[in-house]
Amino acid sequence: MLHIGCHLSSSKGFAAMGRQALELGADTFQFFTRNPRGSRAKDLDPADAAALAELLRANRFAPLIAHAPYTLNLCGAEESSRTFALETMADDLRRLEYLPGQFYNFHPGSHVGQGTEAGITWIAQALNALLTPDLHTTVLLETMAGKGSEVGGRFEELREILDRLDLPEKAGVCLDTCHVSDAGYDLIGDLDGVLTEFDRRIGLDRLKAVHLNDSKNPPGSRKDRHACIGEGAIGLEALTRVVRHPALRDLPFCLETPNELPGYAREIALMRERAK
Ligand code: FE
Ligand code: FE
Ligand code: ZN
Repeated sequence: MLHIGCHLSSSKGFAAMGRQALELGADTFQFFTRNPRGSRAKDLDPADAAALAELLRANRFAPLIAHAPYTLNLCGAEESSRTFALETMADDLRRLEYLPGQFYNFHPGSHVGQGTEAGITWIAQALNALLTPDLHTTVLLETMAGKGSEVGGRFEELREILDRLDLPEKAGVCLDTCHVSDAGYDLIGDLDGVLTEFDRRIGLDRLKAVHLNDSKNPPGSRKDRHACIGEGAIGLEALTRVVRHPALRDLPFCLETPNELPGYAREIALMRERAK
């Protein structure tokens, strides 16, 4: 069966998200570890985390995706911004130990003029500080649209980061369909070709999750504006091929489409039907 869910608000706590996911027909979901703009996290309630862990087990959920604040930049030009990102992510990973076995997804960062190579060096260095042998979370680098000076718009950039890790088994990749199309990969016309390229550059064994989004913009636009399923440039047929592809179909899929909860429930049901 397809593993699919959507982005949920964490404002009511962990177990509440699990119950909401069940109501939506989801068997995975994503949440921000804290305010997406990167401020303080609320105090964590271990009993709430344990209740969610039990719900996930009882309902055979696929791994969840905890998403780092998208304002963090591990490869910013200022040392203070890099340190803030590193410390925030270290704190997130400490808190996620209360919910072992999930994914922690982050945007690799923007090199803001320092160049891609410098960006890759900063990101790999930070990950080497964050990843420890006893960590129970797998950290995922998200494929990016290549907007501005974003690192991670090309598969080879992600490979370059993964190659420099001391503990590569603690890291993987999350493929965002909107970002990959916006970055110029032909997801619409040649999914097999895109996955062959991913396999050649990174290795499909490193792919751990998919963000399932349509895009408001045509391929190669480097924009990163998500659209609801079937309402954007990628379209329902191409996204159906994504959830049905043998190399992807066992991965957790997460919708990050501009929806309220009823819209998410409809898209989850639609993609479950389409995946059959
Ligand atoms: Fe993201
Ligand atoms: Fe995404
Ligand atoms: Zn995006």
